[in-house]
Amino acid sequence: MQIGTPLDQPRSVHRARKRLFIGLISIACLVICLFLALLWLVPYIGLDNIHPSAKWVLGAVVVGLIGLVCVAYWGLFLNIVTKKPLPGARRFRGLTIKLFLPLMVLLGRVFGIEKELIRLSFISVNNDLVLAEAGRYAPKEILLLMPHCLQNSKCDRRLTYDINNCVRCGKCSMAGLLDLHDKYGVNLAIATGGTIARRIVVQLRPKLIIAVACHRDLSSGIQDTYPLPVYGVLNERPHGPCLDTTVSLPIVEKMLSRFIDPNKAKDGRTISTGEAARP
Ligand code: SF4
Repeated sequence: MQIGTPLDQPRSVHRARKRLFIGLISIACLVICLFLALLWLVPYIGLDNIHPSAKWVLGAVVVGLIGLVCVAYWGLFLNIVTKKPLPGARRFRGLTIKLFLPLMVLLGRVFGIEKELIRLSFISVNNDLVLAEAGRYAPKEILLLMPHCLQNSKCDRRLTYDINNCVRCGKCSMAGLLDLHDKYGVNLAIATGGTIARRIVVQLRPKLIIAVACHRDLSSGIQDTYPLPVYGVLNERPHGPCLDTTVSLPIVEKMLSRFIDPNKAKDGRTISTGEAARP
């Protein structure tokens, strides 16, 4: 049996988890059934029989909701097309992340569109919105967040404990990333997973993240860290996923030049999984 599966938990924890799940699913089913019943009941009784002004109240609510959807849609549309900071740009990013992405995934499933395509399009729209919204930041307010798979798999240097263990031999992208850290003074971190990435973000409290990862980790990372702006750079995977991946350093440097305020001190730090995992 694998360590960490629910069956390894004490019986009380296992039961509590089940109870929570059953409780939530019961409430959700009840709400859905009530809603479906109302769909039949309201036209059957007739709005006029419920209250003389019920139809106007319902009409106003529906018009209000349609108005909200239209404003959100056009705001987001213009933001993407013009790539200019519109008022409320951050809200449009929130809408994209919280509402439109789950909707896109749902519709994608219905129409048989690949998840990868949807994620890539989401990352690209997110990046445009971040570019429109974000200003310039002191180097120490920017975090370069890297996946562990960028390190050459044959390298015996333990970067998970300290990135500076890298001797910059140039066999993987880590050498170039450390050079960018030295040149621009931004924070540089390596994360071995989503939990460690979250801890790094909590410890460093950046105002903007430039994250390198695959489309799956990037889209979940962007969702997890909202409202913090995350500019996503896709890694290249010549040997398949999670092994000896690379990243285009010119793209990372271009984005650093876009977001850095050159007049601020270059005093960002490096952090890796070992440090972030310490309590
Ligand atoms: S650049 Fe650093 S991490 Fe990459 S192989 Fe060389 S020593 Fe290892």
